[in-house]
This record gives sequence, C-alpha cells and structure tokens, in this order.
Amino acid sequence: MRDVEQIPDEKSPYECFECGRIIIAVDNPTSCPDCGGDMRNRQTPLE
Ligand SMILES: [Zn+2]
Repeated sequence: MRDVEQIPDEKSPYECFECGRIIIAVDNPTSCPDCGGDMRNRQTPLE
C-alpha cells in the first residue's frame, strides 16, 4: 500500500465560490482576485 504522494510545492487549483473562477496557486488564496469571494481547494481529499 502506498499513500498518495504529497508534494509541498505542488500547485493546486482553487475555485471561487462566488464567480466560479479557477486559479492555480501554491499557497491557499483567501480571496478571489476577480471578485474577492471565498476560495476553496478543488483537490481537498474526500475523506
Ligand atoms: Zn470570484
């Protein structure tokens, strides 16, 4: 069994709750660059 690889520098897609814009960032953006809405990580584990 192998765990999912975790690469700290991996860029992840984040999706804006407000406008649906998807941006790629290494760190967790707290707000949408377009509308200032909340962002969520689209690669959040499903566990
Ligand atoms: Zn937005």
